[in-house]
Amino acid sequence: APGLHFVATPIGSARDITLRALDILRAADVIAAEDTRTARKLMEIHGIPVNGRPMIPYHDHNGAEARPRVLGALEKGLSVAYVSEAGTPLVADPGYQLGRAAIDAGFPVFSAPGPSAALAALTVSGLASDRFMFVGFAPTQTGARAKWIKGLDAAGATIIAYESPKRVHRLLGELCEVLGDDREVAICRELTKRFEEVLRGTCGQVRDLLQDRVLKGEIVVVIGRAVARAPSALDLEAALLVALQTMPL
Ligand code: SAM
Repeated sequence: APGLHFVATPIGSARDITLRALDILRAADVIAAEDTRTARKLMEIHGIPVNGRPMIPYHDHNGAEARPRVLGALEKGLSVAYVSEAGTPLVADPGYQLGRAAIDAGFPVFSAPGPSAALAALTVSGLASDRFMFVGFAPTQTGARAKWIKGLDAAGATIIAYESPKRVHRLLGELCEVLGDDREVAICRELTKRFEEVLRGTCGQVRDLLQDRVLKGEIVVVIGRAVARAPSALDLEAALLVALQTMPL
């Protein structure tokens, strides 16, 4: 159908792509991609020829120049498929401004949903999934991170963050410091790939586990929310005292 189609692509295993996503890539008049080589390779794996169709590179650094090209194609009533490097476009990937511009200009926008490392990690984390918050990549400066962690914790939700393997040890140390050694976490590495691994436990346990390990590959950190503490006898006594004092006689 004419319009902009955001197409989710695999986060590791090449076969993690939906049949509909392949249909859209096969039928689109124009392919726009964060990396056109990756897109070409993915299409090749699934036997989809480019057949001389225009391929527009669209990424963080050329959005302003590339957007008019995509919008121009939509203006002509063409269908454009957009794929990011991996997973779902817009999720810590380009696409937001493109979608916004298409919507503002009145063009139809569609999703071909599929893999995203955020949801894959939540699924295997063993942490509460009823309320969660995706926060993208952690900031890199140490000072900013303690504040960032505190802010996230206030949401009272399971937190899903992307982190570089170079900084994951440091992040765990900071999480333990700010949220306490007892907070539950899961480090989800190389999901859907050969060296897939999930490390679950309390912050302190996982930090110690990683102490003499070098982590490689792609990582999602999932952080459990603070567990509501059962009121202690002391709290109850204090509450009772307040109630008695304020009760009309
Ligand atoms: N759009 C993608 C998505 O929907 O998940 C995310 C793109 S973001 C630029 C790349 C980051 O996602 C990686 O640094 C890593 O934190 C996470 N990621 C991607 N693939 C992953 C995988 N197979 N296992 C674990 N984390 C992954």
